[in-house]
Amino acid sequence: MSHETSLHSRRAHLWLVGAGPGDPELLTLKGARALEHAELVLYDSLVHQDVVALTPENAVKICVGKRAGQTSTPQALIHDWIEKGARQGLRIVRLKGGDPMVFGRAGEELSFADQLGLPWTYVPGISSGTSLAGLSGIPLTLRGVASSAWLGTATGQDGRLTDDLVKALRTSSTLVVFMGRRRLREIAQHLIHLGKGDLPVAVVSEGSLPQHHTVVRTACEWAVSADLDQLVDPALLVIGEVVNHRLPTHDAPLHSIAPTFSHEYQVPHLPHAGKPHVQRLRRV
Ligand code: SAH
Repeated sequence: MSHETSLHSRRAHLWLVGAGPGDPELLTLKGARALEHAELVLYDSLVHQDVVALTPENAVKICVGKRAGQTSTPQALIHDWIEKGARQGLRIVRLKGGDPMVFGRAGEELSFADQLGLPWTYVPGISSGTSLAGLSGIPLTLRGVASSAWLGTATGQDGRLTDDLVKALRTSSTLVVFMGRRRLREIAQHLIHLGKGDLPVAVVSEGSLPQHHTVVRTACEWAVSADLDQLVDPALLVIGEVVNHRLPTHDAPLHSIAPTFSHEYQVPHLPHAGKPHVQRLRRV
């Protein structure tokens, strides 16, 4: 038998971890714990370096990410890495931006793990889709204004706006559109055709990071904007009446409660430092 033993004889395990929308402090405690024990980490480009840095120094860290317009790592290659790690009995962390189950191709990687007989754990992350509107001061739902929120991608597999999005544009739901920056003009034109030219559309770029930036314009304004190429990726669109109810905020909405990740800090309403959850917070 080679050094690559059977999966069942060793402790190989895959953690599929959501890193949150950008700010490293938005990682969950469970995610941080998985990273602390990782031996192989496969991470996407939207993941903050400070999150990757939570892994042990000797862990193998591989960026398998893709950014809009750039070449992506073929899914088969990611599967290869997972299989290699599994055969070596490693603790593997697959680290993805936001929540892996939201436009994260999580299903494919988890069914691959199932085929291998590799046990896995899903650790949810805070999705950009549910957090960035709020970080820009925009409530996703608001009584009397929007009773639902829709999350979707702009482009279907045929390269056109998805039918779902086209239908959703007719509703009063708040629409959160992933990967929609390049389709913004077309979306604005659809809204104008529907008689919704005054509807506001917010574009949130580099959300939750210090560069967090929000631009709000009406559909009519976006349709004739000449500076669309200057909007920075990653960007998320928030469409709907709720945008008019934006709370006053500023563009770097999150201030760290701890200066660095290694710093210990007190949580005021958790007085007893001996409690496990306080200790866990300290370890983050
Ligand atoms: N799983 C991720 C989404 C991956 S799809 C999640 O749950 O957030 C990638 C798209 O998500 C980007 O093109 C962009 O539309 C959006 N996105 C992710 N992080 C973002 C950020 N920090 N700021 C703005 N948009 C972001």
